Amino acid sequence: MFSLSQFPLPYASDALAPHISAETLAYHHGKHVATYIKNLNDLIAGTAYEDMPLTRIVRTSVNNDQKIFNNAAQVYNHDFFFNCLKPADTKMSVPKKLADAFGGADAMREKFRTAALSVFGSGWAWIVRDGTEYKIITTANADTPIAHGMTPLFTIDVWEHAYYLDYQNRRADFIDAVWDNLANWDFVSENMIL
Ligand code: MN
Repeated sequence: MFSLSQFPLPYASDALAPHISAETLAYHHGKHVATYIKNLNDLIAGTAYEDMPLTRIVRTSVNNDQKIFNNAAQVYNHDFFFNCLKPADTKMSVPKKLADAFGGADAMREKFRTAALSVFGSGWAWIVRDGTEYKIITTANADTPIAHGMTPLFTIDVWEHAYYLDYQNRRADFIDAVWDNLANWDFVSENMIL
């Protein structure tokens, strides 16, 4: 029987500190994501979803099976999110082609920041490719660009569980710290050529 297992973090659990603490990762990756994976495995057992790869589960369930979609999309989104982050002491540059699409690196940062702050309640802010166009979008709850024909390039999780231990209610400080110190622009560049 097929079942999804927990994906490993692509860095040590203290590699993102002080911007995201090891304690936050222990809860976020170790508890929240683990629960989505367990729920998904329980929900798909014995169904047609059981043998599908995760991205196909997401795209197939979006209009049909809300519970399966919520858990599958959250597994996908979190795997993607943790890959969008890099150790705090690694230096990377914003891809010029992407920044140019938004009028420069500062304008792209401001547009993403405004979008991430605009999410009411739980959700995600994304940089995506939609056809031939680069866009900054938000999704609510578990929703994900791959369910809507878009290619994700970068995301920040703005559910409170992503930042509350380190930043309490200060979502803006969390977004700025991630963008300025932890964004894995090499991963974003790889996604741009998909
Ligand atoms: Mn999360």
